[in-house]
Amino acid sequence: MNVLDKLWNLQKILTEVTELERRLSVKPDHYAEVDGRYADARAEMERLQAALEQLGRERRKIDGDLQMEQEALKKYEGQMKMVKNQQQYSAAWKEIDVARKRKKDLEDAELAKMAEIEAAQSALDALMQSHAELKEEWDMAHEEWQASLSDVRAELDRAMQRAREAEKDIPPGSLRQFQRICEQRQGVGISLLEGESCSACRFKVRTQAVLQVLRGDIITCEGCRRIVYATKPC
Ligand SMILES: [Zn+2]
Repeated sequence: MNVLDKLWNLQKILTEVTELERRLSVKPDHYAEVDGRYADARAEMERLQAALEQLGRERRKIDGDLQMEQEALKKYEGQMKMVKNQQQYSAAWKEIDVARKRKKDLEDAELAKMAEIEAAQSALDALMQSHAELKEEWDMAHEEWQASLSDVRAELDRAMQRAREAEKDIPPGSLRQFQRICEQRQGVGISLLEGESCSACRFKVRTQAVLQVLRGDIITCEGCRRIVYATKPC
């Protein structure tokens, strides 16, 4: 193997490493689907809980107003007993009438608020009931995914070990050049020639350069700056 063969071999291992790392980070379809439903359900529960707290505050406010209105009404009714003439009588009546209307409005508002609370609470209860099942489903999918990853992790460890071994066998200068290109070119530092074209960028390489590559010289593509590699014609 000349240095180009070794670099090409290293590239293949590094591509494998990249693919394995990608597999470790990507959620499999089944887990992603369950995870999506799980997250939606949690968000909906949080929304309902927040709504219930807000409704509770609104109800307590109505309740407070209602108590005040009841006390006012009691006061007016007490005053009613002490009226001394027709004028005072009708004034007291008017106040009682207004207070009763306000009290009635507040009672209606409280009933409506209670109905809203009840609806939100039963929606939340139903969600929490089905959530236990969903949580179980999520746990299983998650565990299954993690278990499947242990194989991938082991495979990744082996691939990285192979990459380190392959690197040891490459002259340091060529390895550094290759690694620099990898850093700048999405992890691909060497590209196979197809005919006389670079397979990475389609740039046509000079015939003279192709011959040099076949001899084992390190030549970079003028299009993408990657090292070019050619398999020897049989
Ligand atoms: Zn190229």
